[in-house]
Amino acid sequence: MTESAIAVGPVVLLGAPGAGKGTQAKQIARRFGIPQVSTGDILRENVAQGTELGRKARAVIERGELVPDDLVLPMVAERLTQLDCERGFILDGFPRTVNQAEWLDRFLESREFCGKKFRPVVINIKVGYNQLLQRLTGRRSCPADQKIYNIYSQPPKKEGVCDFCGTQLVQRKDDKEEVISERLKSYERQTLPLVDYYRRQGRLREIDGELSVDQVTAEMISAIEGSSAAGSA
Ligand code: AMP
Repeated sequence: MTESAIAVGPVVLLGAPGAGKGTQAKQIARRFGIPQVSTGDILRENVAQGTELGRKARAVIERGELVPDDLVLPMVAERLTQLDCERGFILDGFPRTVNQAEWLDRFLESREFCGKKFRPVVINIKVGYNQLLQRLTGRRSCPADQKIYNIYSQPPKKEGVCDFCGTQLVQRKDDKEEVISERLKSYERQTLPLVDYYRRQGRLREIDGELSVDQVTAEMISAIEGSSAAGSA
């Protein structure tokens, strides 16, 4: 097998907060051996470590608004040029605005994956409003190993603690009800136009995110495998 035969290229995951992007990105990352690049996770890590970026982003994240591009774009450029991204990567939570998508297009024009150019495969995970609310208000995660639970649909075996390591589960500050409505509004206002942006480019694949986790993963795998050849430029 030649090096270029194993390149996957960039995969972009779109979907409202709570659509399951994080869960699916982890499955895809494992299946294809490429890293999950979650801008939300990188920002939260920076907040937890008290870096300069984290200090600037903290209040914005806690209000459920988008962190400004002059902080997010250099952070993404730095992450995507790391060695583990050379065969491809799955972006989860980026781009979130048309401006970020245009930046990503320009960034990818100058990039090769194992010697081959790729255009991103874009997958939109669609979930209805009520289902999103239930998923976001019910989400709990383990701060030690990042396992994700939902008190309604995927509760831990023992209430409030991680099945794997016994750590007390936590609720993200921005998963509190008052912040959730701000996040969903900013999604509709700023991120939904991206669906049209990629549709016009003929690159959008849409998947019903209310199917089971495994069904959604299977559909994503076939979309990525089906597009790998077509996606290369
Ligand atoms: P997420 O984990 O993707 O829901 O992101 C959590 C929060 O991080 C968002 O509500 C934003 O405040 C911030 N964030 C994540 N990704 C981006 C992005 N691409 N652009 C701006 N802000 C972002």
